[in-house]
Amino acid sequence: MALTWRVHATLARSSANGPGSRFVVWTQGCSLGCAGCFNPETHAPAGPVRTIPEVVAEVLAAGALDGVTVSGGEPLEQPEALAAFCAALRRGPDLGIVVLTGFARAEIERDPVLAVAVADADMVVAGRYNARLHLGAGLRGSSNKEYWPITARYSAEDFRAVPEGEILVAADGTATITGMHPVTGML
Ligand code: SF4
Repeated sequence: MALTWRVHATLARSSANGPGSRFVVWTQGCSLGCAGCFNPETHAPAGPVRTIPEVVAEVLAAGALDGVTVSGGEPLEQPEALAAFCAALRRGPDLGIVVLTGFARAEIERDPVLAVAVADADMVVAGRYNARLHLGAGLRGSSNKEYWPITARYSAEDFRAVPEGEILVAADGTATITGMHPVTGML
């Protein structure tokens, strides 16, 4: 049976979810329960089911990109799908892969399944969201979250220039607000 992936949403192009122009995947399902989480609609485990080739095809159809960001929900609660997606991207064009997770680096490193899931990423931004340490900047929701470079492709400095939020308006007028510090007050 083909590996499936519960995906909350995708976005073909974003400037507020990592360095440069990026495709974004928000996975569905998170049981970590960080108080003050800004994405509660992604917590329920049930959601749209996709296949890895479908999502990879969406990435390739998006055209020129600097990379792909996988966020959540909690990407590491579907570790096999995340691993397969990153491995499939590695077989394609040169795209930087960023994974945002609520798991801490130590939790990932001591669990072989989680460690394999991020092995093909370039940068993991790791750790529970702590509302008392809210930050927004640099793609860290709170200052306790850690940049964990898996490869030399990105440094923490690359993330400092990432805008805290963005508003994208589609041709039909639909607005999408995204980023680590959504600019809700502007609408
Ligand atoms: S890990 Fe992320 S999605 Fe899950 S509760 Fe924490 S902040 Fe929210």
